[in-house]
Amino acid sequence: MKLHEYQAKQIFSQYGIAIPRGRVASTASEAKSVAQELGGRVVVKSQVLVGGRGKAGGIRLANTPSEAEEVATQILAMQVKGLPVRKVLVDEAATIVEEIYLGVTNDRGARSPVMIASSEGGIEIEEVARIMPERLFRITIEPLLGLREYQARYLAASIELRRELWREFVGIAQGLYTAYTESDATLAEINPLVITGDGRLIALDAKMVVDDNALFRHAELAEMRDFDEEAPPEREARKYGLSYVKLDGDIGCMVNGAGLAMATMDVIKLFGGEPANFLDIGGGAGADKVAAALGIILSDSNVQAVLFNIFGGITRCDEVARGILMALKEVSTDVPMVVRLTGTNEAEGQRILAEADMLTAGSLSEAAQTAVSLANERHSV
Ligand code: GDP
Ligand code: MN
Repeated sequence: MKLHEYQAKQIFSQYGIAIPRGRVASTASEAKSVAQELGGRVVVKSQVLVGGRGKAGGIRLANTPSEAEEVATQILAMQVKGLPVRKVLVDEAATIVEEIYLGVTNDRGARSPVMIASSEGGIEIEEVARIMPERLFRITIEPLLGLREYQARYLAASIELRRELWREFVGIAQGLYTAYTESDATLAEINPLVITGDGRLIALDAKMVVDDNALFRHAELAEMRDFDEEAPPEREARKYGLSYVKLDGDIGCMVNGAGLAMATMDVIKLFGGEPANFLDIGGGAGADKVAAALGIILSDSNVQAVLFNIFGGITRCDEVARGILMALKEVSTDVPMVVRLTGTNEAEGQRILAEADMLTAGSLSEAAQTAVSLANERHSV
């Protein structure tokens, strides 16, 4: 789950990281009164869950409260990279002397968190990695020891930070790492961390992604979820307890079990196809869950064929078959489908599908090959 900038800033601030004074607003007049409270120049920032808002025109400076109102009106009416803006953060404007990048994420290869720093803040870190990788410094953090002070100092030295700011930088790095671990985050990033005109370090932007699977133990973070920002298929999937990840291919997959879902995707690729999604309906899924899952798959307009691969254990094949038919009654579609059902109540499931003239396959290879050719046929017409 991605957090908004204003939410991540609040969290960072609880860990001792300096942030600009400011508050979130949902209307232009509210933005005006925040600007009045703050006094002086402010920056009005669109709160959308995407980076690069600055370049997209979603961040504007305002000299007076009425200018803040005007700018907020414009920002609240715009879309930033296709996302409608529903809130703006009004912050005291900072004078920027230098922009630094500081972030923590997981390095799966190293099986450890990694902290990354760069003197090239203010641009996306992927961009820095591409055009000037020598300006990017990383340290691997031993999870049992945490971030050591010398490691943070190494980063400060690497980005050639002025000596008198090292102590402050080390505090920020430790605060960021603690915020990251205590929130079960997969990303905590300050870009830019700026040196202000009066020589202080403050987090001008904040980004945080929290592991969905850890939200059960973070009620206060779970409450921060912005339902308006969630794509409808993801929202629907969460409602029904389905694990759904949209991908770029054209073959929709409905599978029970994460391992089987991975295997199914592999076999689709083996036969030259591209999966449109990962979808695990889980064990014991009833007809309604199957119907919801099919609705989610078909809501993706890239999908040219659907492959069901169900291994009936606690999930019964006849339930799944009924779910498919139920779903097809609700969503009218001309997307071709192939079903591979095996296991508990297989015969009954097959009978139900045969009666409804559904295409079935005896093995996973056969099902995947069929799905690939069905999708290709649709592309060629
Ligand atoms: P992003 O584009 O979505 O990453 O949004 P940021 O919050 O990082 O803002 C983008 C850029 O806007 C920053 O790198 C700064 O250059 C500029 N910016 C943001 N806040 C201020 C501010 O208070 N004062 C000034 N002068 N520039 C700002
Ligand atoms: Mn930024």
